[in-house]
Amino acid sequence: MRFSSFFARTITLGLFTSTTASAARTFPRTTFLGGLPRAVAYRSMPLPFIGSLFSSAPSRNMSYPLQKSDDEWRAVLSPEQFRVIREKGTEAPYTGEYDKHSPSSGVYTCGACEAPLYKAGHKFKSGCGWPAFFDAVPGAVTRHTDRTFGMERTEIVCSNCGGHLGHVFKGEGYPTPTDERHCVNSVSIKFNKDDPTQ
Ligand SMILES: [Zn+2]
Repeated sequence: MRFSSFFARTITLGLFTSTTASAARTFPRTTFLGGLPRAVAYRSMPLPFIGSLFSSAPSRNMSYPLQKSDDEWRAVLSPEQFRVIREKGTEAPYTGEYDKHSPSSGVYTCGACEAPLYKAGHKFKSGCGWPAFFDAVPGAVTRHTDRTFGMERTEIVCSNCGGHLGHVFKGEGYPTPTDERHCVNSVSIKFNKDDPTQ
């Protein structure tokens, strides 16, 4: 299911319809709201709760060539990698291994499945606190609209395993060929000095 349709259905069921047997089956978390008007109840909830409504991360439900269960991913990823890559978390800015990493050659592969994602030549200094790339290996990165937390952003994931990389921003004025910034978590990628795409 695409995220946009999931979001639309959630809003429809959660905010604008009365509780029906069908809605309760589909969306049981609404039941504890009791007598509160639903729209008021949702507006007053803190972001972490709203975020938890989307815990079945939409891109997990899409088909990617490499499929693993959460338990299988936990067996091969560190807890921080699992939080960021599989649960769409974000590492703290200016802390990542590759934030200030500027190799002249090599490739950054997916931190989960090792698919080549970005070449060293795609990386640029953005000063944003996370590794920034102006382009990716063709077809290696898939974009989704991310409407969590009241914003509309473009999420980027690994096209092979669906692992969360970060977000892409356009039109910020960086002097790069694309004027795009792929803002990527360091734990979502691994640097390989040998470029297997060449
Ligand atoms: Zn991957």
